[in-house]
Amino acid sequence: MVEPGRRSEAWEVGPCLSPQDTFSFVCAGCGDCCRKRRDLVLSGYDLYRIARRLRLSPRIVANAFCKSYIAPQSCLPALLLTPDPKSGNCRFFEGNACVIHDARPLACALYPLGQSIDPITARTEYFPQLPLCGVCAEGRTLQDYLEDAAIPERTGIDARWAVVCTQISDALLEAGGLEHPHFTAATRRIERALYLDYDLGDDFYPQFQHNMETLMPLLRRLLSPSNAG
Ligand code: SF4
Ligand code: SF4
Repeated sequence: MVEPGRRSEAWEVGPCLSPQDTFSFVCAGCGDCCRKRRDLVLSGYDLYRIARRLRLSPRIVANAFCKSYIAPQSCLPALLLTPDPKSGNCRFFEGNACVIHDARPLACALYPLGQSIDPITARTEYFPQLPLCGVCAEGRTLQDYLEDAAIPERTGIDARWAVVCTQISDALLEAGGLEHPHFTAATRRIERALYLDYDLGDDFYPQFQHNMETLMPLLRRLLSPSNAG
């Protein structure tokens, strides 16, 4: 998945597809996209879904399976799923299958599609990452593929995530980014709001909304020019 709020430039991509466009890809189950995987950056919703699947708190999953870092473009805290140290494969790849299949991250559910979300309008577009793997099945559309991968039911959350991450990133960058004296305090608080402060007994989205309503005024105070030293 791309850095929060940003589109990946790392892939060669095909033209954006509309829902009724032909998309004849079908996964062949080879598992190649799970081997030696190094680029799985999780959203807060990805982490929440994996945490629920494993019945562990988001904080425990983040500490056990992820590397936390500051994304260079956005200055946002981000979580990279780290590979298994012995095999180098994704940690959830066992016996040639994903053991968290129903809770797999968005990037995995989409693959080999990429997703682009406009940070202002939340318009969501899909584009193939080339060359395509898998096999061809005639008569299928992008919409068929997205529905099979359960993408439409989470698109609203993913779009809102992209919009909010962009707003937070803009606030951090306008305040001077890493140079701001309260940058570390701000990013710790952002990490909690985006990823960690979630009760698995409750739905993700209302908690995300609540976390953002609490975070934004706090950030405004923390990052205000009068607090810049
Ligand atoms: S989370 Fe599952 S689908 Fe994604 S790379 Fe790991 S094993 Fe593969
Ligand atoms: S998405 Fe592609 S690389 Fe991954 S298991 Fe399916 S065919 Fe193989």
